[in-house]
Amino acid sequence: MLTFQQLQSITQGKEVQFVRPLPIVHLLTDSRKLSQPAGSVFFAIQGKYNDGHKYLPQLYAQGVRAFVLEQGDLEELKRLYPEANILLVENSLEALQRVAAWHRAQFSIPVIGITGSNGKTIVKEWLSQLLSPEELVVKSPRSYNSQLGVPLSVWQLQPNHTLGIFEAGISQPGEMEKLQPIIRPTLGIFTNIGTAHDEGFTSREQKVQEKLKLFKDVERLFYCSDYKLLHQAVLLQSINSFTWSRQHPEANLYINATTTAGHRTIIVYTFGGEKQRLAIPFTDEASVENALHCLAILLHRGLPLSEIQDRLDRLHPVAMRLEMKEAINGCYLIDDTYNNDLAGLAIALDLLANQPQRGKRTVILSDLLESGLSEAALYSQVALLIQNRGIDKVIGIGPTISHHQLKFSGEALFYGSTRDFLQQFKAEDFRNELILVKGARVFGFEKIVQAFQQKVHGTVLEVNLDALVHNLNYYRTKLAPDTRLMVMVKAFAYGSGSFEVANLLQFHRVDYLAVAYVDEGVALRENGITLPIMVMNPSPDSFPKLRQYSLEPEIYALEQLQAFVTSLEPDVKYKIHLKLDTGMHRLGFVPEDFEALFALLAQHPQVQVASTFSHLAGADEAIHNDFSQLQISRFRSMATALEERLKYKVIKHILNSAGIVRFPEHQLDMVRLGIGLYGVEATGSEQEALRPVSTLKTTVSQVKSIKQGETVGYSRKGIADVAKTTATIAIGYADGYDRRFSNGVGEVLINGQRCPLIGNVCMDMCMIDVTGLQVKAGDTAIVFGPELTLVELAQRIGTIPYELLTNVSTRVKRVFYSE
Ligand SMILES: *Cc1c(COP(=O)(O)O)cnc(C)c1O
Repeated sequence: MLTFQQLQSITQGKEVQFVRPLPIVHLLTDSRKLSQPAGSVFFAIQGKYNDGHKYLPQLYAQGVRAFVLEQGDLEELKRLYPEANILLVENSLEALQRVAAWHRAQFSIPVIGITGSNGKTIVKEWLSQLLSPEELVVKSPRSYNSQLGVPLSVWQLQPNHTLGIFEAGISQPGEMEKLQPIIRPTLGIFTNIGTAHDEGFTSREQKVQEKLKLFKDVERLFYCSDYKLLHQAVLLQSINSFTWSRQHPEANLYINATTTAGHRTIIVYTFGGEKQRLAIPFTDEASVENALHCLAILLHRGLPLSEIQDRLDRLHPVAMRLEMKEAINGCYLIDDTYNNDLAGLAIALDLLANQPQRGKRTVILSDLLESGLSEAALYSQVALLIQNRGIDKVIGIGPTISHHQLKFSGEALFYGSTRDFLQQFKAEDFRNELILVKGARVFGFEKIVQAFQQKVHGTVLEVNLDALVHNLNYYRTKLAPDTRLMVMVKAFAYGSGSFEVANLLQFHRVDYLAVAYVDEGVALRENGITLPIMVMNPSPDSFPKLRQYSLEPEIYALEQLQAFVTSLEPDVKYKIHLKLDTGMHRLGFVPEDFEALFALLAQHPQVQVASTFSHLAGADEAIHNDFSQLQISRFRSMATALEERLKYKVIKHILNSAGIVRFPEHQLDMVRLGIGLYGVEATGSEQEALRPVSTLKTTVSQVKSIKQGETVGYSRKGIADVAKTTATIAIGYADGYDRRFSNGVGEVLINGQRCPLIGNVCMDMCMIDVTGLQVKAGDTAIVFGPELTLVELAQRIGTIPYELLTNVSTRVKRVFYSE
C-alpha cells in the first residue's frame, strides 16, 4: 500500500492535481486489467505499439482516480479529469520501477533472483513447490520477467511472505541494471547461457556480463560451472558462489553420473565429501539441468536426503502455456491445471474475461495453496476477483473453498473433492460456455479436462497465439504511425480458426477485419466481435443479414450497388467499400463505370464510401514489380478522382502482406494483412523475422513389419523392395492432407526424424516408412510446423502455403495456446 504523497516523492513527479487521493493498492499498466478502480494508480506507458495515454478517458469513466503520465496539457487535464490525482513524470515505466524498488526495500526476507537463457520459469515454479513446506513463497506469475513484468511481480510482496522468487529476462544491455534494485536478490541462480537473444548483444561475453549485474550484491550465486564463459566471468567478479558440475570434482556439488531408469533419472553426486544417490522423475536433459539447480539449493539449505527425495518425487512438468481447447456441447476450455495461486488466478481470469464470445463464463477452481493471507481474507479476494471479471458461474472444488462458499455470490456450486465432482458430472449441464479449469496439482484436474474434451481422432492443429501476435507486431513496425491495419480473417482465418484469431486481433486493437462471405461475418458478430468488418463477396440475398449485423459490403459492380440501395431504410447511414480493378481483373470498377457509379451514389447520400481499394496481382514476386507499380499508380489516380467527386475523405488501400514488405512507400491510409499474420512471408525475403503459427499434428495408430515384395495401401503403390517397417498415421485427404504427398513426395516428422510417405494417401489415414527408426503406436507425427515448413511442403507438391493452410479440414480440432 502506498499513499499518493509517497508516490510523488518516490517518482519525483510533478503534481498536476491533487484531490483527496485514496491509498494505492494496485499498479495498473494495462487498461484491460482494471479490477478495483478506486485503489488503482494507472501508469500511462508509451510502448512500441501502443500508448497508455489513449486510455485515460475510459479509465476515468470507470472510476480510476490516480494517474502517472508523461505528457498532457495541464489545464486540459484538469478540465477533463476534475477528480483525478495526476502526476507528470519523465518516464512512466521508470516511475513504476521506482515504486517497485521502494516496495522491495520495505522487506528484509531472502529473495532468490533467477536469470539465464532457458529454464527460468520452470526453476522458479519448482523451487517454489520444493520450498513451500516451510516457506510462504511469493513469486513472479508465469513468466513475468520483463521491464514491466518484474515491477508488477515484486509489488505482490506482503508482510507475511518469508521467501521471494523472481525471474528476470533481458534482451539488451542496460536492462538488468534497472531490474536489480527492484528484485534485489539475496541469492541468485544463473540457469544457463544459450543463444537466445544474442541479437541484442555484441557478444556472448557481453550478454553474460549484463545478466550478472542482477547478482552484484547476492550472498551466493548458484550456477553450473560447466558453462565456461559464465564460470570465468563469475570468478573475475569474485561473486560468492555455489557451483555444480559434471566435469569439475572441486565444484560444491559434483555430479558423478546420471543414468536413465524408465521414466526417472538416477543421479549419483558428491556433496560435502559424501557420495549419494537420488532419483528425479524426468529424463529429458533440460529437466535434469533444471532439477540440478533446485538440488543445489536444497542441499545448501541442509535438507536431509530422504526429505529431498520425497519432495523431488512430487515434481511435475510445468505447463508453460495456457491452452484453449474445444470441448463438449460448444464449450471451450482454458486449461490451467498446474498450480493455483492468487496471481496466477488473476492472469487466467483476465484471459477468460478477454474472450469476447457470448455464452456463459465458468470457473472451475480448486482450493488455493500457499497464499500469504488468512483463509478468510484469501477467499474474499478470490470471490472479488471472480465478481470483477464478470464470471457467471463458479464451481469450487476442495474442502477449504467449500468451507468459504458463502463469500461467492451468483451461481456457485461446491464439491469436497475432484472425485465428488466427477461422480456427479453431467455433460448436458454445460453448453456454449467458456470454462477456465484452474486447480492446484494435487487436485488432479486433468481428469476434469478429460471429461470435458471431445473425442478426437488424434489430429490437431495447434495455433500459437504468441507467434500470431509477434507477426502482427512485426508488420506493425513497418507501418507509418497513422496507417490503419485491416486483417484478413477469411477462410476460417486462413484455416487457423476465425473467431479465436479475430478475438486476439480485437484485443490487440487492429482497425478492421475482412471476411469473404456474410455468414463468416455473422459468426464473428455472434461471438462478440465488435470491430468493423468488411465482407468481400456479399450476395444480394444476404444484404438484409449484412445490415442486421452491421457488416460493411465490398461493392465491385453497378448492379450490385443497385441491389444494395433498393431496400435501404431512410435516415440510416450505410458504409460500403469500393473495389477498383487496376489489373488483377477479378472484381472491381473500371474508370468507364465511374459516371454511372457517381450518379447512383449521388441519389443515395445515406450510402457512405468508407474506403476504396484495389488488389495487387503479383506483389509477392519481384519480376512483377513494374506491374505492381503500374497498378499502384492507376489506383492512386482512380481513387483521387473518386474522392474529388464524393467531396469527402475516403480510406485508400492497396497493399497485401507482400506489398507491405515490398512497397512500404505506398501504404496510403490502410494496409490489408493476410498470410503474413499466419507466419508465411510471401516475398520470401523476410521469412526469418516471422514466427510459424500453426503445427498440424497427428498420431501413429499402428506400426507394421512389411516383408520384402509386399505392397502398402490402395492400388498397391507402396512397394517394399526390401523388408520395411511402416507406421500408419491418423491423417488423410479428408483432413486436408493433400493426396499429392503420396509415394514419397511428402514427409512427416516423428521424434525429430523425417519419415517419407509410402503408398497413396487414404481418406483418413496414410502410411509412412519408419524402417530403422524407434517408432511406436501413440507417437506424435508432425505434418507441418516450425521444423517442417509450409513453404517447403508447398514446393514439393507445386502449390502455395495458402492452400495447405486453408485446406486443413474443420474436423481437425484446433488447440490455441500462449507460451
Ligand atoms: C486475401 C486478400 C488479401 C491478403 O492477401 P495476403 O497475400 O494473404 O496478404 C488482401 N486483399 C484482398 C482483397 C484479399 O482478398
